Amino acid sequence: MTSSKRPLVIGNWKMNLDFVEGLHLVQQLGVLLKNHPVEHTDVVVVPPFVDLRTVSSILDSERLAISLGAQHVNPNDNGAHTGEISTSMLKRLNVEWIIVGHSERRTHYAMTDEIVAETLRSVVRAGQHAVLCVGENSARREAGDYEEVVRAQLDSALRGLDERFHALVAVAYEPLWAIGTGVNATSTQVREMTEFVRTVMSSLSFSAPQVLYGGSVNPENAGSLVRDSDVDGFLVGGASLKAESFYAILQACDDCYAIKR
Ligand code: PEP
Repeated sequence: MTSSKRPLVIGNWKMNLDFVEGLHLVQQLGVLLKNHPVEHTDVVVVPPFVDLRTVSSILDSERLAISLGAQHVNPNDNGAHTGEISTSMLKRLNVEWIIVGHSERRTHYAMTDEIVAETLRSVVRAGQHAVLCVGENSARREAGDYEEVVRAQLDSALRGLDERFHALVAVAYEPLWAIGTGVNATSTQVREMTEFVRTVMSSLSFSAPQVLYGGSVNPENAGSLVRDSDVDGFLVGGASLKAESFYAILQACDDCYAIKR
């Protein structure tokens, strides 16, 4: 990590942990953070929708330095969208971050580039932070044209976005072949792609964007990934479901920032 920005680590619980389990996880994380605070790292947890109210209450009552995120949102303000949730509903629950275009939404729930762009705009117009997920599948990685995939995803989501919203956008480079597989991208691959993302974003007039990596990050690889690549933090799935493993990743980022600053 050569960037001077504070690291950002986001735990995406996906469709795991009901509200009781979520409450326990946040309480355990809270104890770890109170005993040994991470001073330099921004922490976000992203529970399922039905856990948000419980988690929001505990973050507030325990005054924990953890922000709340949501895994998805509908781009419309309200209306006949059965099963969907709006940015204003999330805002009432103190949700500050929203994941936009996670590969699981793109692959399994027909989230096209157009819907990703529309969703990202609705998030930032609501004053919330968007974590835009981009990344290639294994076929495109093997074919060697993975940069083109990522360039197209960034371009369609971000081109023409009003500059006053730029600071509300973070990007997570998440190659599909690394998500939930136990096979993380190497530090060299992460470095190459975070640099590439920054170059494309600079061509779209973004200055100093926050670029995260996601894909099988765990307590064993987090230290070397953050030390040896230029990443600003992580989007973590599986390893965010246990307080100890998520906390170890936070610590790795925090230590690295403290040393390199
Ligand atoms: C993710 O789903 O965004 C993710 C990175 O998952 P995992 O850490 O489990 O690979």
